[in-house]
Amino acid sequence: MTDTIEGVGIGLGVAHGPVARMAERAPAPKDARSERAPEEETARVREALAAVAAELTRRAEAAGGAARDVLEAQAMMAEDPSLEEAVDARLSDGKTAEWAVFDAFAEFRATLEAVGGYLGERAADLDDVAARVIAHLRGEPAPGVPSPGHPFVLVAPDLAPADTALLDLDPASPNRVLALVTTDGGPTSHTAILAREKGIVAVVGAAGAAGLADGDTVIVDAAGGAVIASPSEEQLSEARRRADERAAAEQAPVVPGALADGTAVPLLANLGSPQGAAEALERGAEGVGLFRTEFLFLSATEAPTVEEQRAVYATLLTAFAGRKVVVRVLDAGADKPLPFLNDAPEDNPALGLRGLRALRASEHILRDQLTALAEANAEAGADLWVMAPMVATVEETIYFTELARELGLKTAGVMVEVPSIALLADRVLAHTDFASIGTNDLTQYTMAADRLLGSVATLQDPWHPAVLRLVAQVGEAGATHGKPVGICGEAAADPLLAVVLVGLGATTLSMAPAALADVRYALGRFTLDDARRIAQAALGADDASGARAAAQAAAGS
Ligand code: PEP
Ligand code: MG
Repeated sequence: MTDTIEGVGIGLGVAHGPVARMAERAPAPKDARSERAPEEETARVREALAAVAAELTRRAEAAGGAARDVLEAQAMMAEDPSLEEAVDARLSDGKTAEWAVFDAFAEFRATLEAVGGYLGERAADLDDVAARVIAHLRGEPAPGVPSPGHPFVLVAPDLAPADTALLDLDPASPNRVLALVTTDGGPTSHTAILAREKGIVAVVGAAGAAGLADGDTVIVDAAGGAVIASPSEEQLSEARRRADERAAAEQAPVVPGALADGTAVPLLANLGSPQGAAEALERGAEGVGLFRTEFLFLSATEAPTVEEQRAVYATLLTAFAGRKVVVRVLDAGADKPLPFLNDAPEDNPALGLRGLRALRASEHILRDQLTALAEANAEAGADLWVMAPMVATVEETIYFTELARELGLKTAGVMVEVPSIALLADRVLAHTDFASIGTNDLTQYTMAADRLLGSVATLQDPWHPAVLRLVAQVGEAGATHGKPVGICGEAAADPLLAVVLVGLGATTLSMAPAALADVRYALGRFTLDDARRIAQAALGADDASGARAAAQAAAGS
């Protein structure tokens, strides 16, 4: 019988296919004597280590980028001769292969942790290798993203950014991921952001999906925020029809973003690496509204040099020469810790030394980054804007704006992610060139709901009138000062909410390139007066679902 599992949809896509679950890490083996001869156990271990190293090497080649380095390093761990010796010592004591691997890797882990620094950071990678070898010995699937040999809908509790980056989306691949369903994680978790960036059909925070089994056919309906288990033939053919229709909308002509009355609303791209530039331009991005620089350095253990940074920024800025590019300085902390900026453990990292606070505590890193940006653009010739994340005070606004100007950046602004800054937007905008509203964090902090936590995902909804009111205040302050107010959180990628945000005073919208076509289409349906009317309807509601319903009614949809 058909069963609807609710969650939060990412984007408007729909897909269907058989489920393959992310294999969970199996329980640790017990310390027991082996019934096999030590030589037999040794042969099993050798075969398992070689198989795991080969698989990791294969994945490294397929992944490319930063993920390749991590996977190659893991493959080398599996073949490390000193680890092999430690395993052998346990086997000659008559232990099982599973226990010998588990115990020898655990000993190495403890050593790495004791050394700390770069090596300490690798301890978790070592755990993953050990888990893979033990799974191989047991004849169980490797933990992590499965390779079932056919296209599948991936169901997982949540994904690490490296897992999401590695998902196989090649239409010709036998292991293609058709859609992603997570039982945890909210709509603004970085899994959701990466899914949006890669155009993966996804539903997150779908706790009920924990009951799905491998091979079950499901429809993943991101627009409806639901996973449909055991769908009927009619439901499947409707899903196919919608998927075809969206593919056709994607083919529609790419024009600059504008409302029906001609009011321009530039549509910009959110990017995490220069590699996304070509696709963004192809989809009609008029520039970049948020370049998340910390994504470039997630696996770095030391601060990147000016030279290293200049090269990567130059690639981005050259791709967008003559266009606006808003670069955010490193937003380290919470779910994106950078070891060289966040080295002290905190109980509440989302409320801790993150974003501009962390950069200010290591000002040389901020200076290096701004210097690299100014130098990169001297040759590239983009319209470069820089902005700071997690700004909470007028004083921080002045600090960042002055520093950016001192280092040769002409246009500097702040992100509005903390309610304090939205509430004082009129004063903030007196001291800086622009504001860009990060609705993901602004919602998290306004609603006091962790953006990574599935159990509070319904509160993490930017449609909430409390969030919309803050956006309206920033919009008004922007109009008063004649300064731009952009939106760069995930809210800008929701077509009707994008119309509401423009009605509240947003002057540009920035989103994952995959969302540009839908938002462009929605803006073209309404005038500025319509957008203001729809926004007022949403503001008048008591809660997020009321705001959404009121906007839908006012929009006549
Ligand atoms: C935001 O908070 O809305 C934002 C754009 O920044 P990030 O999602 O990277 O925290
Ligand atoms: Mg943010």
